Amino acid sequence: MSLVIPIFIPHEGCPHNCLFCNQHSISGHVAAPVTGAEVGETIRTWLARARPANRGQVQVAFYGGSFTGLPSTRQTELLAAVQPFYQQGLVREIRLSTRPDYIDRDRLDLLCHHGVSIIELGVQSCDDGVLRRAGRGHNRADIEQAVRLIRERNIRLGIQLMLGLPEDHFRTLRSTVETVIRLRPDFVRLYPVLVLRGSGLEELYHRGGYRLLSLGRAVVLAAFMKKRFDDQGIRVVRMGLQPSTDLEQSLVAGPYHPAFGELVQSRLMLQRTRQALAGVPGTDPVTLVIAARDQSIFRGLRSANLVRLRQLGLLDRFSLRVDPEQPRQTLRIVGTDWAAGTQTPPGQPLDALPSPSFLTENDKSTGQRTASFNQR
Ligand code: SF4
Repeated sequence: MSLVIPIFIPHEGCPHNCLFCNQHSISGHVAAPVTGAEVGETIRTWLARARPANRGQVQVAFYGGSFTGLPSTRQTELLAAVQPFYQQGLVREIRLSTRPDYIDRDRLDLLCHHGVSIIELGVQSCDDGVLRRAGRGHNRADIEQAVRLIRERNIRLGIQLMLGLPEDHFRTLRSTVETVIRLRPDFVRLYPVLVLRGSGLEELYHRGGYRLLSLGRAVVLAAFMKKRFDDQGIRVVRMGLQPSTDLEQSLVAGPYHPAFGELVQSRLMLQRTRQALAGVPGTDPVTLVIAARDQSIFRGLRSANLVRLRQLGLLDRFSLRVDPEQPRQTLRIVGTDWAAGTQTPPGQPLDALPSPSFLTENDKSTGQRTASFNQR
């Protein structure tokens, strides 16, 4: 497992004022800008506490603001502070986030010179109208140009997207997803728009000019996006903002949930369970196999998935088994008449399903942990 050492540079270097943005609320930092010496001290502290398993897989991540919007002397100060650790191999990767219009060849020269290997672009949307309404100050052409330049340097690329921006409808969201798929990032992060205290969106919201996304709708949209990216082999590494006291105190309204990502994965698991069972002929119960760590996703928040499966009359159609070898977020069926008890039904691509977690009975005859939903 890798250890991420976070360095917060909230709002530094950013002259923009995106409608939704309140960087202080998100990062929880309103203090003076971090110095190079403090960066070094932070890294030393984290390394001293690192577990042996984490050593050798340490990443320093500059969060917040727009790193490459800082003056080059300031960028150099921050990156230079990481160099002693990087050159000794104590830090393996350096990651930062920035805006698409703050990427050019000179800036990338500086980053490459200091070993930056991952850049996350705050893209938010690929629709020019949505970007304009959000006051982003860049357009889709800037995004495509930045991606091209980053790719030229073989730097890994992450893309951050938002759902629920003003004037972003399903059509524009879907178009954004398809554009991002064509850009082939290494990973994406999905953030539902929240109304934060002090942001322009708060004013708009209080004036009645912004219609909130409900939590349920945000989950549905994020599930759609995740499935598209999963299908294309693009990792979704985060869904929803990291919960924190600062964030919760700044939150005015919006689809916030501390386990937003799990809600999305549970929804996808329910879809895939239904899809899997729909492909099974006859009425004999089958066994669904999931990864042990996916049990809670399978169950859903407050057993919502099980309730839904019961409503659909599907809860008696299967028992659940946990297999340590089953990849996470996947599901397979065993024990059916039509496939000698071992195969996935034809046409059912069950190997790419999101998974859950909640079974506990021990099947002593097989040594596998099993349970049946209708017993619970
Ligand atoms: S570019 Fe980033 S830091 Fe700057 S205002 Fe917009 S969201 Fe905030």
